[in-house]
Amino acid sequence: MVEQPRDQQGERDVRGHAGEVAAAWEALVVTARRTVADRLVVGTSGNVSVRVGDTVLVTPSGVPYDRLTPDDVTGVDLDGRQVLGTLVPTSELPMHLAVYRTTEARAVVHTHAVHATAVSTLVYELPAVHYMTSALGGPVRVAPYATYGTDELAENMLRALADRSGCLLQNHGTLTYGATLDQAYDRTAQLEWMCELWLTASSVPGLTPSLLSQAQLAEVGERLRGYGQRG
Ligand code: 13P
Ligand code: ZN
Repeated sequence: MVEQPRDQQGERDVRGHAGEVAAAWEALVVTARRTVADRLVVGTSGNVSVRVGDTVLVTPSGVPYDRLTPDDVTGVDLDGRQVLGTLVPTSELPMHLAVYRTTEARAVVHTHAVHATAVSTLVYELPAVHYMTSALGGPVRVAPYATYGTDELAENMLRALADRSGCLLQNHGTLTYGATLDQAYDRTAQLEWMCELWLTASSVPGLTPSLLSQAQLAEVGERLRGYGQRG
């Protein structure tokens, strides 16, 4: 990623939303720490972002999440120009920005979850072993490998993400997005769980897991719209 000049108009715009930005940063840090606590990443691997207006708050590159304070808020505009903070933004800005430019996403979570990463080395698509496949929009694809932080990886990811809210990144990890940080995080957790399920079911010698059909997944997709509490 080529370093972009600071965006002064963007800096003025974002100062107009100071309260919203502070709350979003706090939620982002909580989410980033969860990825470590829940063993979806180790150390400073992975990254998290959340959109406030046309500003994207992102985890800084290579900084342990337990060290992040309210003063470390790091934000860029949709072109990647820094509008908040002085820490270097995540190296995966191309992936995060590609999602915000092309979807309704308000939050993006990238991890190196171990079962998901294992699956990314074995298949081109996660077999539909569970109905929660539908919660991600259908069978989850694997984006072909490219070096971390590159535009090529972002392009491969976008293709794998078509009509889905998550994908695997070959020999690398996961990426999911959502309308909120909690939704993006939960989709990562579900994806990792389904990858563990498939690895478990497919490792029984002499037996092959049954898979759900497109029609079965479509029916679940409809039903999930009404899942949970009213409203
Ligand atoms: P950052 O620390 O730059 O966010 O990189 C971690 C990572 O997962 C790269 O793919
Ligand atoms: Zn990564």
